Amino acid sequence: MTKAPKNIAIVGAGIGGLSAAWDLVRAGQKVTIFEAADHAGGLAGGFKEPNWDWSVERFYHHWFASDKHMLGLIRELGWQDEVIFPTPVSVMYHKDKFFPFDSILAALLYPGLGWGVNKIRFGLVGMYLRLTNNWKPLEETTTEAWMRKWAGDRVFESMWQPMLMGKFGEKWAGKVNMAWLWARLHSRTTQLGTFKGGFQAFADKFADKLRELGVDLRFNARVGKIEAEPDGWFAIGLADGLSEVFDQVLVTLSPGTLARMAPVLPEDYLKGLMELKSMGAVVMTVALDHKLSPEGYYWYNIPKQAGFPFLSLVEHTNFLKPEYFGGDHIIYIGDYLEVDHPNFNKTDDELADEFLPHLTRINPKFERNWVKKIWVSKTAYAQPIPLVNHSRNIPAIQTPIRGLYFASMSQVYPWDRGTNYAVEIGRRAAGMMLEA
Ligand SMILES: Cc1cc2nc3c(=O)[nH]c(=O)nc-3n(C[C@H](O)[C@H](O)[C@H](O)COP(=O)(O)OP(=O)(O)OC[C@H]3O[C@@H](n4cnc5c(N)ncnc54)[C@H](O)[C@@H]3O)c2cc1C
Repeated sequence: MTKAPKNIAIVGAGIGGLSAAWDLVRAGQKVTIFEAADHAGGLAGGFKEPNWDWSVERFYHHWFASDKHMLGLIRELGWQDEVIFPTPVSVMYHKDKFFPFDSILAALLYPGLGWGVNKIRFGLVGMYLRLTNNWKPLEETTTEAWMRKWAGDRVFESMWQPMLMGKFGEKWAGKVNMAWLWARLHSRTTQLGTFKGGFQAFADKFADKLRELGVDLRFNARVGKIEAEPDGWFAIGLADGLSEVFDQVLVTLSPGTLARMAPVLPEDYLKGLMELKSMGAVVMTVALDHKLSPEGYYWYNIPKQAGFPFLSLVEHTNFLKPEYFGGDHIIYIGDYLEVDHPNFNKTDDELADEFLPHLTRINPKFERNWVKKIWVSKTAYAQPIPLVNHSRNIPAIQTPIRGLYFASMSQVYPWDRGTNYAVEIGRRAAGMMLEA
C-alpha cells in the first residue's frame, strides 16, 4: 500500500525553502510555500530596471567555485551552462591606496604586512587553515586570541582586525570564534560565479520549476503564527486572518522570527533562539554613468579606521559587463550594523550624502552627477555572530515539537552563511522530514 503524501508547509521562499521543496515534492509530498514578499529568492533576490537585461542583487552576491551544494543543485536542475565564473580583482587598503589581494603573488606584494617575518607567518597560518579540517578546537578561542598567538600582532591588526571590526562592530569583533575565520579561509576561492541574468533569474526559474512539479508557491502570504493542534497537526495563521492546517512545517526565517511566530515551542528551545546573535546590513546600490574604479577592481575591502563610513565597496560591473545593465555601471556600498544603528532609520538621501563623498578616495574624478539612481536595502538579519563554543548553541533542525522544523543561516555553522549552505540545510531538513 502506498503511503498518502504528507501535507507540508514551508515558510519562506528563499534559497533554503526552495531547496527543501525541491526534494520534498520529488518525493511525492504535497508542498505549499508561504512567502511574504512578491517574489522568491529572499536575501539573495534582486531587482531590475527597465533598461537592464540582468537583475542586480539587493545585497551583493556571488558563488565560490567550492560551493558544491549550490553548484550540485544547479547540475541536478540541468542549468550548469547558465553559471559563469569570472575572476574579478579584490583589493585591500593600505595607507590610502588599494592593492590586489587575491593570489599568493598578490599577497606577497601587499605592503600592509611589511616584509619578512610577518609575511611568512601570514603565509604559514593561511596554509595551515586552508589544509586542516580540524575546526572544532578552533571554536574554543577567539579569532583575535588565536591570530595574535600564531600570526602575530602585526598580521592580526593589519589583516583580520579591520575585517572583524567591519563585519561585527566593536561590540562583537573581539568575541567571534576562530572557527568562523577558519571556515572562510578554508572554503573560499578567488573565482567568483553567478547565474546568467543574476541571482533573481535563478530564483525565478527555480520557483517556476517547483510550480511545474506541483508546489503551491504563494507570494504575498506572510505567516503570522504557527500553532500546534492537539491531534499533531499545525495551523498556519496568515496575516489576513485565515489559517490552514498541515502535517509538517519547515520554517526558514531568523531565529527571533521563529520564536515570535511559534510561542508554543518549549521554553528552553525558545531561549536558545533568542540568545543567538546576529548583525543586520545596510547596502546602497548605485547606478553610475561612468566606471568608478580606475583600475577595474571589483571588491574593495575597506577598514573603517581609515575613515570610510562603510565596510565594502563593490563595483559589480567589474565582475559582470555593464552591457547587461543597459550600459550602467553598478556599485554597491555595504555595511554590517547592529539593528539599533542610526543608519537603519536614515533616508536614502541622508545615506547618499554620507557615503558618496567618499567615492573620490576611490576615484578622485568622481562627481555626484555621475549618479543616475540609488536604491537602499536593509535587513535586520544578515550575518549570524558565532561566539566561543558556538556549536553548543545551534538549535536543532527538528524542534522539540514533532513535525515542526527550523533551517536558517544561524544553523549552518561552522560555515559562514551563504546560499550554498542554504541549499545544504534546506535539503538536510527535507531529508529529516521525509524520514520522520
Ligand atoms: C549583505 C549580504 C551579502 C551576502 N552575500 C552572499 C554571497 O555573496 N553569496 C552567497 O551565496 N550568499 C550571500 N549571502 C547570504 C545569503 O543571502 C543567505 O545565506 C541565503 O540567501 C539565506 O537563504 P534562506 O532561505 O536561509 O533565508 P532568506 O533568504 O532570508 O529567506 C527567507 C524568506 O522568508 C520570507 N519571510 C520572512 N518572513 C516571513 C513570514 N512571516 N512569512 C512568510 N515568509 C516570510 C522572506 O521574505 C524570505 O524570502 C549574503 C547575505 C547578505 C545579507
